[in-house]
Amino acid sequence: MSNPLSTVIVLAAVTPAETAEVANTWLGSASYLIAAGLFILSLKWLSHPRTARRGVRAGEIGMTVAIIGTLLIYRAVSYEWVLIGMVIGSLIGAPMAIWMPMTAVPQRTALSHAFGALAAALVGTAHYYQVLATGELEYDHFTMAILALEVLLGSLTFTGSLVAFGKLQDLIPSRIKGLPNQNAINFSLLGAAILVAIWLTIHPLHQALFPVLIVLGLFFGLCLVMPIGGADMPTVISLLNSYAGLSASLMGFVLNNFLLIVAGALDGSSGLILSIIMCKAMNRSFTNVLFGRMDASKTASADDVYGGKVKSATAEDVAAILDGVRRVVVVPGYGMAVSQAQHAVRDLFHQLEERGTEVEFAIHPVAGRMPGHMNVLLAEADIPYDKLKEMDEINPSFGQTDVAIVIGANDVVNPLADTDPKSPIAGMPILNVGAARTVVVIKRSLSPGFAGIPNPLFAAENTLMLFDDGKKAVVDMVAALKEAA
Ligand code: NDP
Repeated sequence: MSNPLSTVIVLAAVTPAETAEVANTWLGSASYLIAAGLFILSLKWLSHPRTARRGVRAGEIGMTVAIIGTLLIYRAVSYEWVLIGMVIGSLIGAPMAIWMPMTAVPQRTALSHAFGALAAALVGTAHYYQVLATGELEYDHFTMAILALEVLLGSLTFTGSLVAFGKLQDLIPSRIKGLPNQNAINFSLLGAAILVAIWLTIHPLHQALFPVLIVLGLFFGLCLVMPIGGADMPTVISLLNSYAGLSASLMGFVLNNFLLIVAGALDGSSGLILSIIMCKAMNRSFTNVLFGRMDASKTASADDVYGGKVKSATAEDVAAILDGVRRVVVVPGYGMAVSQAQHAVRDLFHQLEERGTEVEFAIHPVAGRMPGHMNVLLAEADIPYDKLKEMDEINPSFGQTDVAIVIGANDVVNPLADTDPKSPIAGMPILNVGAARTVVVIKRSLSPGFAGIPNPLFAAENTLMLFDDGKKAVVDMVAALKEAA
């Protein structure tokens, strides 16, 4: 029905009621094409900070067009129920989008993956029992294979995303690493689930196995994400995004809906590509993340690392050091996001530039709690984009830096990643701030970061700790600089 000429011909040959239906189907298909195009453009634009806003808008318009198209095509559905669902969804979603702080976006994303995957698993389950009743499934092994995969991916993504949500929201302590022999348990669960899926594909009418498949999927999701912590968490979130997309795409095959196939495939493939890119950038093992391999890490205690070696300073002391220096590098981290210090950081940037100090920002790929977190915050505060330098670009210049100011960053500047092969962040590339002449670390205490390990940088000879809230510390530094001018 996507050819306009054939539509006109068909329209001419049918009754008015049928004409309306054909027109709806044609309009629905056209909206699907437009929506698919917008989703592709959206992903392309989202890949660069300059075009990201346009990308978000294209995605939003694409989704609106897709919903309208679906309502036009599936005329048999009850519009009242659709309306009720949309009102309830909007009542929950709008306050979440408006009031949820930026720092909580990763856990909100994990929840979205969980519910998207749950929807795919539920639709797949409902479809199985519906088709089972008609007896059509007996010889349709292709549909059964897709249904089994969809429900397996949907169930494991549901529980896996809930665990990721719990860890990011600190409801589940990130030190919980799972059960003894976790690796063997994970492989056994996955193997059993695959065997059940294959058996069901061959014998679709063996319905007693269907709930077994769901339960195995749910348990595998739990076991997959529970042992993951430290530097693997960002990648696992991206991987769960990919699983949710793949599950939606499979649902498209089951429901014969090409937009679901396209949108799910775009989501699935972009999530997978992002996971692989992140693994490479962070020197993590993709197979460890893929199979939730147990983290056998062990690190020195905080007392061993810090005992009597930490030096602290006030905002006024730091302002005095900054007065007249040639080059400063600011390293933002999760704490800058929590304290919402970005606007104060912009004021500090202007104060220093006015004094002829060269200032640049060092951006670690996983600083904060989502990819691009620091870029978004600094762009919001109008810090020029060309001052933001990626890790590989800025690392060689720390040796020629007078002062590195670390604002609420911890894991991304932790030298244990290089020196301790047993640490949970071992092998992750870090920002080499220790090479700067003086390092100032702004945070409230010696508490660890996301990976839960101490940081020898805080006890280094050339490090001064400014123990305070990130925003307050920077505001005080700016005031002290102004006073000294
Ligand atoms: P970290 O989580 O390592 O450390 C953040 C530090 O900020 C804490 O040590 C905390 O110390 C400090 N802090 C918290 N609140 C404030 C505040 N109000 N003012 C000042 N400081 C504050 O952050 P990093 O950005 O260095 O590293 C990111 C970590 O998150 C990595 O381990 C990464 O793997 C993980 N992660 C990243 C994701 C991503 O995609 N970017 C997603 C999921 C996880 P204190 O309490 O003493 O103030």
